[in-house]
Amino acid sequence: MPRTDELLAAPGIVSAIEHIGARRVREQIRLTQARVRRGHIAAGDAASDVVAHLPARAASLTPVINATGVVLHTNLGRAPLSAAAIEAMASAAGYVDVELDLTSGRRSRRGAPAISALIAAVPGAEAGLIVNNGAAALLLATTVLGQGGGEIIVSRGEIVEIGDGFRLLDLMTSTGTTFREVGSTNRTRLADYADAMTPATRAIVKVHPSNFRMSGFTEQASVAELAGLGLPLVHDIGSGLLRPHPLLPDEPDATASIAAGAAVVTCSGDKLLGGPQAGLIVGRADVVERMSRHPLARALRVDKTTLAALEATLDGPITPTWSALSAPRDALRSRCEALRADLLGSAMAALPTEDVTLVPSDGLVGGGCAPGMPLPGWAVALPSRFARLLRGGSPAVLARVDRDRCLIDLRCVPATLDAALAEAIRRAAERSAGGA
Ligand SMILES: *Cc1c(COP(=O)(O)O)cnc(C)c1O
Repeated sequence: MPRTDELLAAPGIVSAIEHIGARRVREQIRLTQARVRRGHIAAGDAASDVVAHLPARAASLTPVINATGVVLHTNLGRAPLSAAAIEAMASAAGYVDVELDLTSGRRSRRGAPAISALIAAVPGAEAGLIVNNGAAALLLATTVLGQGGGEIIVSRGEIVEIGDGFRLLDLMTSTGTTFREVGSTNRTRLADYADAMTPATRAIVKVHPSNFRMSGFTEQASVAELAGLGLPLVHDIGSGLLRPHPLLPDEPDATASIAAGAAVVTCSGDKLLGGPQAGLIVGRADVVERMSRHPLARALRVDKTTLAALEATLDGPITPTWSALSAPRDALRSRCEALRADLLGSAMAALPTEDVTLVPSDGLVGGGCAPGMPLPGWAVALPSRFARLLRGGSPAVLARVDRDRCLIDLRCVPATLDAALAEAIRRAAERSAGGA
């Protein structure tokens, strides 16, 4: 039996410990020793067996190719960062001047450049603040405005569950803020808000019902109408669209909301903005200032790498999120045709021609944004067993299962990965033919 200390000293294993740390290596040594004990491998092959089975990196989060056509896939980490944001994040990872002015040598305001970029991106915003996520932004805004035994009005049509069992009203009441619910599920009029106002009312919160759609006999008060009631209005727009965009006409945006009179707008950084996980707050200087002074702001503050990635997203080139959302249908079709030709052209007896077809495929915005709005595109359809095979491959590929087909939608796949994707499908076909 190869001894643990001998294996730990083997050349390939020493460098692996420097790369991924000792804990994972020791774990693999134990597994390899068990294989030797059972006679599955020879004792002399133990060191190479350890190296062959070590994980590639120190963290177990595994990059995947998103071939689902869902742009902001919650289970796949929502927005993929741009190269500019990734570079900014890596540069900020070490010691960095996050709270220091290099010219004067004095302390500077944390996050000031990212906040400037945010304000510049939202005409009409006097001030901004960056916190950990959209939920934190809303929590901070309502906690601050409802302070001192006050009350905040919310429509019953906007009491939203955002996913994984979390409900926004539970979140907002968790800091002791009192809410008065008005209206009904499908209709809340301006008069419902006006009638509920008392001297204790401090603010109105309007939550965009971002992840579901209500149609038929419905009514809601507009931002301008609510702002006209004279109380500070918090508008949670959710998705982080900072300005209107023709691709998403029904999605509220921060600029329009502020122009219509919202005191503050809150949203996520990693939905339509296409940046890192963050919560963005923009609006009136006096209200934002109160928020930044509240003790909760310290608990909800973001990391230096987030500030770097956010600034690079706000000021940088088009994000992967917007490239995917706006991918032209014809371009997606051409890439799918090329992928199909690539798959069938190779000497791949494992995949008969009739198993690889080109089909129209609707992508989705995802991430609880613009629910039900199709993004017309194309996909390569494979037999359904490929969904499991591709998920288990390296790189892992996440496809969409539609009835009895496995759809490879290229909308969210960077074109630079088309060849790697084709290779992953070929290997899955070989494993399938081999009975995997
Ligand atoms: C997504 C969303 C949130 C929560 O934002 P996170 O960044 O996920 O914390 C809150 N409100 C609305 C309307 C949302 O769409």
